[in-house]
Order: sequence, then C-alpha cells, then structure tokens
Amino acid sequence: MKTNYKEALQHPIFEVVSRASETLNMPSYVIGGFVRDLILQRDFKKDIDIVAIGSGIELALKVADLLPNKPKVQVFKNYGTAMLRFEDTEIEFVGARKESYHFESRNPVVENGSLEDDQNRRDFTINALALSLNSKTYGDLLDPFNGLQDIENKTIKTPLDPDITFSDDPLRMMRAIRFANQLGFDIEADSLQSIERNKERIGIISGERIVEELNKILATETPSVGFLLLYKTGLLPLILPELTDLNQVEEIEGQTHKNNFYHTLEVVDNICKNTDDVWLRWAALLHDIGKAPTKRFNKKQGWTFHGHEFLGGKMVKKIFERLHMPLNHKMKFVQKMVVMSSRPIVLSQDLVTDSAVRRLVFDAGEDVDSLMTLCAADITTKNPAKYKKYHSNFETVRQKIVEVEERDHVRNFQPPISGEEIMELFQLKPSREIGILKEAIKEAILEGEIANDYDAAYAFMINKAKKIGLKINDC
Ligand code: ATP
Ligand code: MG
Repeated sequence: MKTNYKEALQHPIFEVVSRASETLNMPSYVIGGFVRDLILQRDFKKDIDIVAIGSGIELALKVADLLPNKPKVQVFKNYGTAMLRFEDTEIEFVGARKESYHFESRNPVVENGSLEDDQNRRDFTINALALSLNSKTYGDLLDPFNGLQDIENKTIKTPLDPDITFSDDPLRMMRAIRFANQLGFDIEADSLQSIERNKERIGIISGERIVEELNKILATETPSVGFLLLYKTGLLPLILPELTDLNQVEEIEGQTHKNNFYHTLEVVDNICKNTDDVWLRWAALLHDIGKAPTKRFNKKQGWTFHGHEFLGGKMVKKIFERLHMPLNHKMKFVQKMVVMSSRPIVLSQDLVTDSAVRRLVFDAGEDVDSLMTLCAADITTKNPAKYKKYHSNFETVRQKIVEVEERDHVRNFQPPISGEEIMELFQLKPSREIGILKEAIKEAILEGEIANDYDAAYAFMINKAKKIGLKINDC
C-alpha cells in the first residue's frame, strides 16, 4: 500500500504551507476529508483542512503573508481556527488539539495536543488520515488507525471505542450513515451497534445540524440506503417519526394496503434520477406523510387515505418548524408539492380533458414541471402492465400540458382585465362585484369557454355584468 503521496499533493497551497511551517518551525499536516477523497480519487471539493502543531491562526497568517495576493484571513479566536481563500479553495487552519466532552453538550473542552491527540478526536478512521507537509517527510501518510485499510475495505469505523466517539458527539452517528451512503461503504458491525445503543443521544443535536446531514443523504444517488440505515439504527423514528409511522401494513377482511414507508423510499430514489433539487427530493420524502393519520377502512372502498395530501401539507410545516428548517418559499414549495401530489395521477387515470389540464397548470403555476417529476417518480407499481399504462397515460398528460400551455398561457396566469379597469368601466368602488367578475372570467378561461386574451375576456365580462345588473359608465 502506498505510504507517500508527494506526487498527489498538486494543489499549489501545500508548498506555501510547507514553507510557512518551516519559517515558524511549526510542523503541519493536511488532514481529514481532503486526504480521504484524494486516496479515493473523488472529485476535489474545494476545502482543505490543515492541522498545525502549534497555533493554527499563526500559521494561517504566515501563509497569507507568503501568498502573492495576500488574502484576508478570517480568524475565529474562540475556536482557535482561521480560514483563508486561495483561488477557489477554502483553507481551514487549526492547532492540533485534545478534546474532552461533557455529557450535555457536543462542544468539547479543548486543550493543545499532539498530532495523535488530534487524530484521536476525529470521527472515523478514514477521516483521521494526515499527510505531512514538512520538508523532510513531505507527503508521508500518518495513519494510526489503519484508515487506509478501511478505505480499501470500504468500512466506516470509529478510531476509538464507538460508544465514546458517538456519545461525545452524537452528530457523528448521522455522519457515519451519511458517509456510508455517499461513499458506498459499510458501517463496521461494532460501530453500527453502538449507534443503536446511543441513538437517544441525538436529542442534544440541533435541528440545523441534523438537517445538514439529511440534506447530504438526500443529495446522494440512492438516499434510501441512508434512510434505511437511519431506520435500522433507530435514529429515524427520533428525527422523523411521521415517516416511520408509514411503516405498516394492515389487513382487514383480506384487504391490505401498500407499505408507504418503503414506497416513499422508492419514490425518493426514483426522483433522484430526474432532479438535483434538494427541495423536490424533500417533497418526495414527505409526499405521503398524511397517510398514517388519515388511514381508514370501510367495507365499500377498502382502505382509504382521504385528505392525506392536505393534512400532509400541514405536517410539512410542523416538521420544518421542529427541525429549524427555513420557513420561507422553500417550505411553501414542499407544501405545495405534497398538497398537489395526487393531482396528475388522478388526471391520468381518467380521460384527460383540456380543462382539467388547464386547471392543473393554473394551480401548480411555475412548479408544474416539478410536480410532474414528483408524480412520475410516484409510480412504483410492480405490475408491468399497470406500470406501462400509468406511464403512458402520464405522457399524455405531459403532452397536453405543453399543448394547453402553448395555446392558453395559464401557467403564470394574469387576469386579462384588471380590477381597476372593471371599477372604472362600471363606476364601482372596491366591492364584491369586482371579485365576481374576475372569478367568472378566470373560470371561463380555465373551462375553455373563452380564450385567454383581452378581447374574449372583455366580451364575456360585458355579458356577465349585464346578468348581474351592472351598467357601463359611458360618460
Ligand atoms: P465533507 O466535506 O465531504 O462533508 P469531510 O470529512 O471533509 O467531508 P468536514 O465536515 O468538512 O467533513 O470535516 C473535516 C474533517 O474534520 C473530517 O474529515 C473529520 O476529520 C473532522 N470532523 C468533522 N466533523 C467532525 C465531528 N463531528 N467529529 C469528529 N471529527 C470531525
Ligand atoms: Mg470537508
């Protein structure tokens, strides 16, 4: 196995850090994710962590001084770290440290330490690898926990007793699962069991941190792998109980319903093939959460989930609040997708009329393509004949959307006649009649009774106004 990586340290910053180290007589190493990804030959993610045996801040200032453009150094005194940007890379400097933890917090008490101390505090063996930037040993791999071997074996494993590593900072449990998912690695049995034992400790982690990891899981090609690990270790019911509540199949009078938890994970994997939008992926994850609380059985219809989309939309807001996710237009988008998630499917089961498609496009507005992507991913039937039929009906809906949109432009619907114009024409103050007229025009357009243009809307409005007893102001 290779133990020197001099050739691989291509980035020009390393030579500068090495010189700064020499000048300050302060050994330094590149450590963590950069080294792991270098060995794995993964794409370089533009962040590099440097550990100094001494003051990381001092080393960063020296490096900046040696660089031709003298970049600004951001100093975080409280953490003893510093960051500078070089070309398009963020370089983080930290002094080697030893950490000890209190039970209630993931923020350790920190003191200066050796390189080994610093490697001990790392989360996984594959993240504890360091390469020397010191002239005599430049490029040498320092690998006290056989991380290189674990990379070869595709194993995630904590450097110390996993119960200590995970209890000290429970976020590492999520990181383990996220790395397993991202890298296609397995979590070593002992570490995996330890996650199960320590799962309740996730309670001290903030929603923001949890969501950061969930987003990284959702950003992988096959998020179901991560979610199943979260489920099996018992973390998922603590983080997203709404989702694990879907893991049930009941049978009454010989009738069952599908397991909506596994169905959901399939939908998420499906949608990942067609979108990188993390919010649309969230929508896929949450699209059926209203099904557990709305599930009913009656003899006539069998299993029903009436109103699950609407309730699901409400649950989205609660989840976003609980996990401290943004309560802005992103949340609204996820809600809208969940609320509308059955619409195109219902459409594709019937004869697809122009007016139904126009209404769909009108209600979904600019998000209609995202909605169609979600609904296509939602088709998970294992019956090949049904699968083919649903997809082909679905294509008809897609086709119709294009046709209707070309003709009627209702995607970003603007009323062809404004409220002001109506007020002026009929000499009205703001009143109910204006709303009635505007609504009637919109309905007529969506129903296909008139075209979506000014002249047609004007003629229609005059007619309608007569019927409700309005007179034109002709002065
Ligand atoms: P990526 O950047 O792809 O998320 P990474 O391994 O670089 O992966 P970072 O969060 O950037 O992860 O952290 C850099 C390094 O810091 C890690 O490789 C690891 O050595 C260490 N580290 C980060 N978070 C923790 C943690 N919670 N506990 C212990 N060590 C950690
Ligand atoms: Mg990183």
